[in-house]
Order: sequence, then structure tokens, then C-alpha cells
Amino acid sequence: MKKFACLSLFLAASATALNTQAQDKVLNLYSARHYQTDEAMYETFTRTKGIKINRVDADDAGIVARLKAEGAASPADVILLVDAARLASADSQGLFLPFKSAKLDATIPANLRATATADGVTWTGFSTRARVIVYDPLRVKASDVATYEQLAAPQLKGMVCTRSGSHPYNLSLFSTVVERMGDAKGEAWLKGVVDNMARAPKGGDTDQVRAVASGECGVALTNTYYLARLIKSTKPEDRAVMEKVKVVFPNQGTSGTHVNIAGAAVAKHAKNKDNAIAFMEFLSSAYAQDYFANGNNEFPAAKGVKVENAALKSMGGDTFKAEQIPLGSVAKNMVKVQQMLDRVGYK
Ligand code: FE
Repeated sequence: MKKFACLSLFLAASATALNTQAQDKVLNLYSARHYQTDEAMYETFTRTKGIKINRVDADDAGIVARLKAEGAASPADVILLVDAARLASADSQGLFLPFKSAKLDATIPANLRATATADGVTWTGFSTRARVIVYDPLRVKASDVATYEQLAAPQLKGMVCTRSGSHPYNLSLFSTVVERMGDAKGEAWLKGVVDNMARAPKGGDTDQVRAVASGECGVALTNTYYLARLIKSTKPEDRAVMEKVKVVFPNQGTSGTHVNIAGAAVAKHAKNKDNAIAFMEFLSSAYAQDYFANGNNEFPAAKGVKVENAALKSMGGDTFKAEQIPLGSVAKNMVKVQQMLDRVGYK
């Protein structure tokens, strides 16, 4: 009880602090991204556009909780969240304001944005990451992990490891699998993955990769930037992990590898909507794309922008075929997929 009262006071005080600056050209940014390289990018935005950025950093869940607690009094103008499932979830809770931008329409591929309505879109991606398969070459053949579909095949019995099925990264992937396969086959596939597990889901993506290296698991799912971090790590034990595992970009011969986004949205009660759109348009520039994507070893989302990242390149990140299913399908399928997970016992 006391804790909650303190939180409310803190929220009220910080909201006032941010609101007092609203008469100047200002942008109140709530960000679930906090990479040092982003700082320089924000300074360039302020210098070139004359718009001061007030930043609130929290993790994705913290930002959503804060927006809900603040309600209509929220000073937030623009929100950065990670993964389409989290963006879709916040959107479904009414936290975003639809926006239109001809520049973003031309720059960011439609499949990396929310489904458009007459009012525009409610969120858009600015960088992408691929969800790939990592396997132990001593136990698993490359041909047995060429597709996501094969994660449910009998050859991988007792070998599959993932983080929680309900985690946004998996909810998003599973939503696009169900979109491709249809409900009945999609649910049967999820059941097959559960039947193939080496252990109950636990830990994060990096933990799955380590468990493949240690021999506990034969196959695992991970986002690409976690692999890049291990490759770039100064710790010899991290690099040793990457020497024991192999990476596959699944579905290269069919639908392409699932890619997800870090993205942005205009806050429902934004008082500086134009500045929020100007900021998002700035994020789509080649200059900002480089910072935004490379800050977390991701790929740029803007058309025609490429980033040199040796770690991503070393695993084939510069040439793979990406899935083209609109991430708006994640929003559509997320609740249904969660119900499927509950039915098949995917923890
Ligand atoms: Fe992550």
C-alpha cells in the first residue's frame, strides 16, 4: 500500500516536471530502448529540429504500466517499445493515437507497421531482428532444422528448448506461423513443439543458446542480436558458446525467417503530436537508422538502408530471406495463440 502511494506521488511529480516544459518545442519520449549510441542520435534531433527531448527510460512493461497509471494526464508524446506483440498489446489497451505520415509510408515497409485504417497506423517499426534456430551440430543435422515447422518433427524429440511460449518474442513468431498454417494445423504444430521439448520453458533467449552449447538442449530459438552480443563479448566463455552452436535462418526455401521490430507509437494523450511525428520521421532517416539498428545489433527497417555489422554478417544476417507476413497479423492472432498455448500445455 505504502509502495503504491509513493509510486503515485512520484508519477504526479514527474508528470508536472515534464508538463511545465510543454510550451517550448519539446518531445516527451518514453523509451524501452537505452543504448548509449541512441544518445548522440537524440542530440542531433534536438540540434537540427530545435525540439528538446525529455526522456523517460523503463522496460516495456514499466512503460505500459506508467502510461496506464498516468491516463489522460500523461505527458508522453512518443513511445518506443520492443516487439510487435508488445506494441499490439499496448495498442489494444488504447494507449496509442493513430497517425499519418507520407514520409513514413514511403520509407518503412507496410509489413513492419500496424494494419492501416482510415485514421492511419498506430505503430511502426524502426529496426528489425530475426528469430532464428540455434542447434548442436553434434546431435542435429542442418537439414532437420531448416524450417520452424520441423521443430515439431519426430527427429527433434527431447531436444527443443525455448523461453516461455507467452513471451512476446514467441507470441509474435507463433502468430505468424498460425497465420500461414491456419488455426488447426498451427495448434497441432504448437503441440508438436511441446512434445519435443528437452525441458519446460525457462530463462531468456541467451539461456537457450547456452543450454545448446552445454548439451542440455539440441535446438533452440533466439533473436539474432543475442547471438551478436555473444560473438562480440569480451568474455572468452561467451565466444566459446558460439563455437559450439550453429545458426540457421529458417524457412529460406519457403516463407522466409520471422523478423520482428523495435518500434514507435504516438501516445494517446500526446500534447506534441507533430513533434512526435517529426521524431519518428527522423528515426527513419539513413543517419538515425544506423544508430537505431546498430545500437542493439539489429537491421534497419527503412527501405534501401544497410548497416555494416560484422557479427550479424558472420551468421548470414546480410543475405537472408525475411518473412513478409504483415506484423499486423500478430495483433490479430495474439489472443488466439495464447489460448492455443494454454490448451497444448506450452508454459
Ligand atoms: Fe530482447
